[in-house]
Amino acid sequence: MEECRRRKGIDLVAVVDCASPGVRNDIRRLLDAGRMAPEPGGGLRFDGGPVLIPAVEVEIGGEGAGPAHYVLYFPDLASVDGAAEVLGRTIRNIQLSSQRTRMRAKDLLDLAEGHGGFLVPAHVFTPHKGFYGACAPRLEDVFGAEAARVFAVELGLSADTAMADRLSELASRAFLSSSDAHSPERIGREFSALEVERPSFEELVRALKRNGGRRVAANYGLDPRLGKYYRSACLACGQVAGGPPPVHRCGRCGSDRMVKGVLDRLEEIADRSNPESPPGRPPYVHQVPLAFVPGVGPRTMARLLDAFGTEMSVLHRIPAEELAAVAGSDVAGRILLAREGRLPLRAGGGGVYGRVSGPGTGGLRTETLRGC
Ligand SMILES: [Zn+2]
Ligand SMILES: [Zn+2]
Repeated sequence: MEECRRRKGIDLVAVVDCASPGVRNDIRRLLDAGRMAPEPGGGLRFDGGPVLIPAVEVEIGGEGAGPAHYVLYFPDLASVDGAAEVLGRTIRNIQLSSQRTRMRAKDLLDLAEGHGGFLVPAHVFTPHKGFYGACAPRLEDVFGAEAARVFAVELGLSADTAMADRLSELASRAFLSSSDAHSPERIGREFSALEVERPSFEELVRALKRNGGRRVAANYGLDPRLGKYYRSACLACGQVAGGPPPVHRCGRCGSDRMVKGVLDRLEEIADRSNPESPPGRPPYVHQVPLAFVPGVGPRTMARLLDAFGTEMSVLHRIPAEELAAVAGSDVAGRILLAREGRLPLRAGGGGVYGRVSGPGTGGLRTETLRGC
């Protein structure tokens, strides 16, 4: 929560590990100590700062082609307590996050709504447990007629609005871009800008449903090419596909053991060859986080944050001259190119992030594959 307030400038944050009794006990302790307080309209305000939305990410297998992740958002501790109690009976280890439940997706939807919450399919395009990436090409395939009750999806890494708007069934649904942060630095790598009265659970729902003038005003996230699943990648030799999607066989070693890329999967399931955004669809602002900018190490990062407060200011608002005075003209120049979408990028795939290409930019950023 400190990271949200001090470095990222975030007002509303969902914590998706709230099925875990330990996490809910932490929240209870903060409430008892007066450091957290229920917010009118739902959500829990932390120390007069950001508002926390208690949420639960769970996995369902055995529906569609493969497992999918869903996030359930709740207004308060009592509602997530109630839902977690039911979930706990269907999950082997409730202590861990994103655990697999024996429930069906429709029942999970009922569970969320029955406790005052709502359900959002998580990181829908990723090959690992994203709904479209791993489970099914259409929401109806799993939710049947109840698909109409799914009013938002989370885009997830390696996808953006233009890509998602190649599926006509998403025209009526809002897009959330969230950072699935497993560490404080990752918070805000993706985020959604909401036009709301105040940060609260109710206002979030209104924004996603476009009620009463509330709306998602913009989605911010990594350029999809920087994501670690953008293109298909070979499990045998690590080659990331470069040819026209969908690629099913490695161009280097000929193996057909590939982690399917988001772009490659989209080519298979899209019912539009070009994106068609519905009226009012907010823009997707591509970000190149500071950690991806060549020349920005921990020291430069610290200097920039000290000088300008938040990473969002550095990436999107501070004039070039001011950036140059703190970080040098090379780094300032790259941040400017990133703002204009002109920084040359090399696509990621198979769990390896894309990167900024060009001289002096060696060293792939890697992370082990994980469930989310
Ligand atoms: Zn290969
Ligand atoms: Zn997940």
